[in-house]
Amino acid sequence: MSTSFLAQVNAAFDRAAAHTKHDRTLLEQIRACNAVYMVSFPIRRDNGSIEVIHGWRAEHSQHKSPTKGGIRYAPNVSEDEVQALAALMTYKCAIVDVPFGGAKGGVKIDRRQYSEAELERITRRYTFELVRKRFIGPGIDVPAPDYGTSSKEMAWIADTYASLANGELDAIACVTAKPLAQGGIRGRTEATGRGVFYGLREACDDGEAMKPLGLTRGLEGKRVIVQGLGNVGYWAARFLQEAGALVVAIAEYNGAVANEKGLDIVALDAWRKQHGTLLGFPGATDIPNAMSALELPCDILVPAALEHQLTADNAPRIQAKIIAEAANGPTTPEAEAIFAARGILVLPDVWLNAGGVIVSYFEWLKNLSHVRFGRMQKRHEEETLRKLLRAIESKTGQTFTDAEALSLTEGADEEDLVASGLAESMIVAYRQLAEVHRGIGDPAVTLRTAAMVSAINKVAQSYVDMGIFP
Ligand code: NAD
Repeated sequence: MSTSFLAQVNAAFDRAAAHTKHDRTLLEQIRACNAVYMVSFPIRRDNGSIEVIHGWRAEHSQHKSPTKGGIRYAPNVSEDEVQALAALMTYKCAIVDVPFGGAKGGVKIDRRQYSEAELERITRRYTFELVRKRFIGPGIDVPAPDYGTSSKEMAWIADTYASLANGELDAIACVTAKPLAQGGIRGRTEATGRGVFYGLREACDDGEAMKPLGLTRGLEGKRVIVQGLGNVGYWAARFLQEAGALVVAIAEYNGAVANEKGLDIVALDAWRKQHGTLLGFPGATDIPNAMSALELPCDILVPAALEHQLTADNAPRIQAKIIAEAANGPTTPEAEAIFAARGILVLPDVWLNAGGVIVSYFEWLKNLSHVRFGRMQKRHEEETLRKLLRAIESKTGQTFTDAEALSLTEGADEEDLVASGLAESMIVAYRQLAEVHRGIGDPAVTLRTAAMVSAINKVAQSYVDMGIFP
């Protein structure tokens, strides 16, 4: 690609900024990356040799603290990429009202070239460097996983930070997406897919948005195609199916399967785990050329695999009315222009896949409060509901069955509360986006630009309220 990633993000910012009335210098302040720390450090390899590792951490905006964003382990990590991703985190957090600024980290390694012990040494040393320069901390900057990292690295980061923090009460809140036993939260694994589902459900309930697409309201009966049956794709497909949508095709890198009557996601996932491929799934049609599956008739296409999957090449043949960007950057700008001209609605990644950061925010809150969500009120809530049922029984002279009483009096546990908070965040954000979009009043302006306008307005408000120090 000729323009850098950061230049693309800034161009998207400028397009959106043109729909706002903010002062030019304020816009400049929002757009600029506040701080980048570049670090090089040696690690000892298992064979005794020494290797110098390069890494970055960018903090794009401190209009809210702490800053937040993943850490990526990949051979092509660069300062440009880390800054671009940090900026996107600022906008994503603002869109879903998560009170964090944006950040991103990267370590320039191909993780497959390192043993687990080497990866642990790299992670711990990188964390040490961030601590030294105050680029990590529960109130400073809170990392999470990204490409090439997982809850395992987050546990090493938490442990390293806590070891250096010497009794700091909230130390464990220095990083999110930790394993449950290390202060993680229930519902984090499925958070992004669940958020995609809530987002789609809300958009499909918006009659005004469905009308120009020729679709009826609601998810029930809508035909869905999903690309990528990984973490995000699997959970999104599962929740959509449970809500009555028909998942008519799933594409993986090594083949796709289709069934007009709907695929059973749980059974299909089990089949793939057993056979290493979706192909051959009983009752489904095999499509060996996976990319062609994206072009089958459907109402909703959910790219949940990689970036740049919908391009100027295949966009004219896509039959979906809604593109739900579960992956990051699946639609190229050229494809988006084609979709806009064809009247296809693109639900942008910067809002739709924010479920992970939303639930990370809940994990951070849990860590700061040192108590599991639901622990204090669940039993009290159940007792109150039981009293209510008993009162209804005595007034009506009728009794509930044991099963009815059980389901009507169940109190909310951590997973229920996380799902509820996630649904609220996605729904409120959609309504704000839709309002901004309608306020712009130009059908040529995409929902992605409206999302960016919404983010800019919120960050601008923070800066205006805050003033400038000193
Ligand atoms: P994952 O590795 O669990 O799943 C990706 C899936 O896509 C895998 O099953 C893989 O085999 C499949 N795939 C790879 N290439 C493909 C191709 N060419 N065609 C079809 N399928 C292909 O990753 P994930 O965590 O589910 O992330 C998927 C996307 O969602 C990425 O773009 C990621 O950045 C984005 N995302 C993830 C999260 C999260 O919380 N996991 C949050 C926000 C955004």
